Amino acid sequence: MIVRGKDITGPLRESADVCIIGSGCGGGASAKILAEAGKKVILLEEGGYFTSRDFDGTEGFAYQTMYQRRAGQSTEDLSVTVLQGRCVGGSTTVNWMTSLRTPEFTLDDWRHRFGIEGLSAKDLDPYFERVERYLNVKAEPDENHNPNNRIILDGARALGYSTKANGRNARGCVRSGACGLGCPFDAKLSVALTYVPDAVKSGATVYADCRAEKIEGSGKTKRVAGYVLDNERRTTKTDFVIEAPVVIVSASAIHSPVLLLKSGVCNSSRQLGKNLTFHLTTAVAGRFERIIYPSGGIPQSAMCDEFLNKNGDNGGFWVEAVPVYPALAALAFPGFGRAHRERMREFPHTGASITLVKEIDSVGRVTVNDHGRASISYDPGPKDIEYLKQGVAAAARIHFAAGAKEVMTLHARPTIIRSEGEIERKIRAASWERNSLALFSAHPLGTCRMGNDPQNSVVDPHCQTHDVPGLFVIDGSVTPTSLGVNPQITLLGIAEKSAEWLAENFAAVAR
Ligand SMILES: Cc1cc2nc3c(=O)[nH]c(=O)nc-3n(C[C@H](O)[C@H](O)[C@H](O)COP(=O)(O)OP(=O)(O)OC[C@H]3O[C@@H](n4cnc5c(N)ncnc54)[C@H](O)[C@@H]3O)c2cc1C
Ligand code: SF4
Repeated sequence: MIVRGKDITGPLRESADVCIIGSGCGGGASAKILAEAGKKVILLEEGGYFTSRDFDGTEGFAYQTMYQRRAGQSTEDLSVTVLQGRCVGGSTTVNWMTSLRTPEFTLDDWRHRFGIEGLSAKDLDPYFERVERYLNVKAEPDENHNPNNRIILDGARALGYSTKANGRNARGCVRSGACGLGCPFDAKLSVALTYVPDAVKSGATVYADCRAEKIEGSGKTKRVAGYVLDNERRTTKTDFVIEAPVVIVSASAIHSPVLLLKSGVCNSSRQLGKNLTFHLTTAVAGRFERIIYPSGGIPQSAMCDEFLNKNGDNGGFWVEAVPVYPALAALAFPGFGRAHRERMREFPHTGASITLVKEIDSVGRVTVNDHGRASISYDPGPKDIEYLKQGVAAAARIHFAAGAKEVMTLHARPTIIRSEGEIERKIRAASWERNSLALFSAHPLGTCRMGNDPQNSVVDPHCQTHDVPGLFVIDGSVTPTSLGVNPQITLLGIAEKSAEWLAENFAAVAR
């Protein structure tokens, strides 16, 4: 059963075997596995429950209703915009569907540096296979790539860079391009269309519009307390308390540490909220004579992975296409007035690529502000900034190799590169200080990091917190480092494995 906030009329009091907070990758996958194992599951989600009938393909609807802080979530200094979903299905409802397994070098690094056993490629491959089968993950055939993705495939190939078609979790995709706004055709196999309904079929109850504020107690009587929201009016309606011996926090790498910090638990390591990584991202926009129309067709179906871990330092960057919807373009393109209008006029001839850094020396953190909400800080490290510059240069080279007439970076003082020969000089001359160019993240990770040692990690390799038996964190918070690929398959694989372990060991855990 899926219950919306508007249907809850008085204070809600319930009990369950497992209470899960957040319905994205971590929460949705855990709910399905535990409900299918016969556990009574309650899944809480602060955002609303929307279906394809609600999705109208407009940025206005999507950003207002299905993104954290109406798509305006950012670091405190406004230097990095942090995009996340806030609805049943979490970020998967609005994501771009690239489906890639965790690179082996990343999993090896976790074993060597954090003593994590049981998460090698060999251990995770059966889970990845299961997730990919369930979500129908397949790479698109050559004829399905839109002109924006062709820039990457053709440009990278011409330069001799490694490039490939990504897997995507779709069935019956009509290539509308609306993935980031909610799929109006039910073709995107998001968590809201797969794990959540399957959990419900096995008896789970989903409460949408219900925000958890605090976890109290230990042992068999943990209590999750919070508010039922009227998300349209942005007010609270009433309160709820759910009692359960097992609680799983799956509110994402930004919001899980906030809940745990407010609850005053799980921080004996002093690591809670620290180690935030972003896959720090910026974009380049190329002007082409041909029509590209970067918001039409499958948004993200190809990548260039030539520069990942190339120096053996676990860092580097990769390049992907980005679906640039008009309002997003208007925000991201630099300039004002007439100059900005001219740029927007070129929109149909604009191709756009993002470069995402697998960080190695940036320092990010989530704390709680005076209003009890997330306060995000992020200091990019010198090595990561160097990779960001190299990433922008590589993306610009790819655009020129694919026929761009000029390439623009997202610096506040417009940096226009008119030929390949200008790339290095212009990129080195530009400012890379914070707030001098548009930076994004759609992949916050790492704030309740996993490890064997309770002194320097928050959860163990089964995602159970070191400090409170029966309290788990299963979501993007647990990765010990950034990944080097888009996260959803990694997070679903880890969630399925951890939830399966919990189901098998339930009696011992729920004491
Ligand atoms: C625009 C966009 C594009 C992306 N594209 C891709 C892609 O192509 N491929 C890919 O692999 N990944 C992509 N991602 C990232 C991927 O979707 C996320 O990494 C993944 O969904 C994170 O899973 P999670 O469980 O950590 O959190 P989420 O999926 O974000 O779910 C967390 C949920 O918890 C809820 N919540 C938060 N606090 C509370 C609370 N206190 N009480 C109740 N509920 C709460 C939130 O509303 C949210 O619904 C994209 C993300 C975005 C935003
Ligand atoms: S491109 Fe495909 S998956 Fe994306 S919104 Fe359109 S039909 Fe849905």
